[in-house]
Amino acid sequence: MLTAIQVRFGTVIFGRMKQRITLMLVLMSACTLSLLAFQFYWSYQGFLSASKTFKTDINQALQAAVDKEMEHRQDEIAERYKGWLADTNLFAIDCHIDTTSGLTVFTVMEKQPSVNDKVEFSLGFQGYHPEGGRMTPNVKKYFIDRLVSTEIRKNLQRGDTFYYTQLLGELMNEAMQNSKLDLARLQQYYVAELAARDISANFQLQHAKGQLTASKDFPFATRTLQFGFRMPFDEVFATFPDPNKTLMLRMKWVLLSSLLLIAVTIFCFAYTVRTMLRQKKLSELKNDFVNNMTHELRTPVATISIAAEAIQEFNLSKNSSQEYLSIIRQQSGRLSHLIDGILKNLALEQEQLELHPCVLRLQDLTAQALWQHRPQLELAGAVVSYAPPAVPILVKVDELHLLNVLSNLIENALKYSQGTLRLELSCREEGGQAILVLKDNGIGIPATMQDKVFEKFFRVPTGNMHNTKGYGLGLSYAKMIVERHGGNIRLNSTAQQGTTFILSFPTCQHESVKSTVA
Ligand code: ADP
Repeated sequence: MLTAIQVRFGTVIFGRMKQRITLMLVLMSACTLSLLAFQFYWSYQGFLSASKTFKTDINQALQAAVDKEMEHRQDEIAERYKGWLADTNLFAIDCHIDTTSGLTVFTVMEKQPSVNDKVEFSLGFQGYHPEGGRMTPNVKKYFIDRLVSTEIRKNLQRGDTFYYTQLLGELMNEAMQNSKLDLARLQQYYVAELAARDISANFQLQHAKGQLTASKDFPFATRTLQFGFRMPFDEVFATFPDPNKTLMLRMKWVLLSSLLLIAVTIFCFAYTVRTMLRQKKLSELKNDFVNNMTHELRTPVATISIAAEAIQEFNLSKNSSQEYLSIIRQQSGRLSHLIDGILKNLALEQEQLELHPCVLRLQDLTAQALWQHRPQLELAGAVVSYAPPAVPILVKVDELHLLNVLSNLIENALKYSQGTLRLELSCREEGGQAILVLKDNGIGIPATMQDKVFEKFFRVPTGNMHNTKGYGLGLSYAKMIVERHGGNIRLNSTAQQGTTFILSFPTCQHESVKSTVA
């Protein structure tokens, strides 16, 4: 009855827990997925905005490069213009100061004028008075530089040809006609302008005079720019065959931090799910353990009470009484074994298990554990070999817990034996470590499960072949106790051949030894 109620109670609790865990998992999955979706969305938005900025940058850079190219060509014509004016074969330049206006008036005259042409022009400059109002080479240079850097520059920028004289107009017109785009130079300007905007992507300049293929026919291109002094204008645009690399490089910190965030989120999610599932499995196993225990405890308690009642109530013969008493002894032995299991479980639960270490000889401790199991070993017909070394190996350990550990290992050797059990024990000292080895010729532990046997409640599944009783607590308890002593436990095992457990502890030297009863 008690068991039935408990199982039902357990089932209800687990049902609810399962529901809660499932709900949590669903919520966490939804949150993680939304977070990931947001991350991807923002990264994509970032990519779009970087791509927009990139397009603006490459367009501005091309405009700046074209402006520089045009400036260069204007400079060239301006220099030539200065040359024409300075050429005394072509022009004579004179000056005088106009008394009414106070301006310095310069007159430029063609030397070989053709008939009916405009052959001269005059220009007054304010704020400049050459010494004596006479023409000297310096005054001429001043006039030419000022004329070119103001009026002629403006004309060049507008692409106008101003006929100050017929010859000057014709020369200027011809120079503009002949001024050609230097594509290599434009390319250099463009590279420099792109570099100033932190862009090093490969590009190609597409150039034609009129009827250029539309830039929109290319996946990534600037808009088309038209420029020049005379029709048909030059048309230029730049295409970028692999802009994604540049965009990725520009966004590398955003993308890297995004990826890191995604990785951390996935890791945290996976870790939490794993912990939750482990906790759930552990609670289930614990529930099984409690259910089994309750069930197992009932039988010996009931048997003992019936046997005691029989002895008390009935007038039994001596033989029958002895029989009942041996039943009581047997069942109380079983009870103590079960209680031992519960205690081990409690010990594993307790984070702060208190140890009472004292200095002992490892040889004595091993002998005592063997002595405690002598009846069972003899009953099983086990062949035990143990030849302790003569030099004492001193260890500082909690005697009770360490004896429990050795008992577990010997009991396991008995439980998981096949045929005649051969149990070999040995101990030795090695580099400040006390080593204790227990070797049996039992059923062994499959390689895939050798790490797991140290986990709480884990038992190697054996189907129906070996119906040995146990709770999967002995080895986890052994590991916990050995590690609490600053030591470690490991095993070597081959299925169907046997298992060797190797325990090591730090040795201790200078304290008085407590003698153990063996
Ligand atoms: P149990 O109460 O099941 O014996 P343990 O923690 O002591 O729990 O052992 C865990 C599992 O490891 C056992 O169920 C058994 O399958 C395996 N095992 C332990 N010792 C041995 C051994 N000497 N030989 C073979 N298998 C063993």
